[in-house]
Amino acid sequence: MISSGPVLPGRTIGILGGGQLGRMFAIAARRMGYRVHALDPVQDGPAGQVADVEWVAPYEDVDTARRFAAAVDVVTFEFENVPTETLSAVAERVPVYPSPEVLHTCRHRLHEKRFLSGNGFPVADFEEITSEATLVSGVARLGTPSILKTAELGYDGKGQVRINDASDVPRAYAELRGRLGVLEAFVPFSCELSVIVARSRLGEVVPFEVVENRHSRHILDVSLAPARIPPKTRAAALELASAIAEKLGLVGVLGVELFHLPNGEILVNELAPRPHNSGHYTFDACMTSQFEQQLRAVCGLPLGDPTLLRPAAMANLLGDLWQNGEPLWEKAAAFPDVKIHLYGKTEARPGRKMGHLVAMAETAEIAAERVLAARSALVRP
Ligand code: AMP
Repeated sequence: MISSGPVLPGRTIGILGGGQLGRMFAIAARRMGYRVHALDPVQDGPAGQVADVEWVAPYEDVDTARRFAAAVDVVTFEFENVPTETLSAVAERVPVYPSPEVLHTCRHRLHEKRFLSGNGFPVADFEEITSEATLVSGVARLGTPSILKTAELGYDGKGQVRINDASDVPRAYAELRGRLGVLEAFVPFSCELSVIVARSRLGEVVPFEVVENRHSRHILDVSLAPARIPPKTRAAALELASAIAEKLGLVGVLGVELFHLPNGEILVNELAPRPHNSGHYTFDACMTSQFEQQLRAVCGLPLGDPTLLRPAAMANLLGDLWQNGEPLWEKAAAFPDVKIHLYGKTEARPGRKMGHLVAMAETAEIAAERVLAARSALVRP
């Protein structure tokens, strides 16, 4: 059933999930002459607007997923929480990359942490939380502050609560609402880094440059490429991300989020088995984008050159920017060194990722100044 030859331009790629990651993937794929089908529960989504065919169905609709699978040559995804039954039904008919096993590991914090620590990759100390009593003993062992996260369906800081002292335990436990949790020791990081790494069906492993990330309200705000870190740390981060991709047996693209400690040590925060927000700059600033790399990896083509052509910075555009009306696009367009990316979302909600800006300059710091100036210029008074 699973064919081994490359999927060449002209063939059809299926993408599970119809958000901005799928949209940028579809743009990269169509540029190389592939046809794209996107499956998502919501009509006229960011990926569907760009795909050849938009399939609209709930992720639980296994019958539609089967018909979708029959219409394409290979499937990848941009949304990792597709139900297991749907994924299995698709994988019976057509190759799915990354494999459902990789997904099983990466979409569950406990599976992921056990995979990482079991293979000697550095992570913050953690405890499995199954009851209030295990949270009490976990907080006693890991100390405060510590962070309680839901094992599943958490992203952008959703499903996560900080425990500052033992008296916070009942409130924090209540927020789990009976779900399985993971308690993590608080990491006093000096900065957050990420590495996007690709591994192809042919086993080739290629990381992109290390990126430095700043968050606001737990959501990625700004990324700087390259990260301002010593060469030794850079080499260690690239090596770590590549080793994780290899150990996972990944086929596709993996976002590896890292904490950089003041003593130079790096810890893995989490893995995302798909293109990552902190890699959006690659679309403008690298020889090959993370989306084209995902395409090459899952199609069994040789990977592209990830070289950063120019230092760059990316700033997210959240729905909050729309609070006084449509942002002033012509003001951002007046920055000739800034690229505007919008995802085609019609409803701007606070915290919703609507688009991003990328600036390129002589250094990542100057690019960050430019991108932030362009973003400020968008704000309608
Ligand atoms: P996550 O959804 O796990 O990536 O967490 C979102 C953000 O919360 C991270 O990017 C960090 O800024 C912060 N965070 C998460 N876990 C920890 C931790 N164990 N120690 C310190 N900060 C954390």
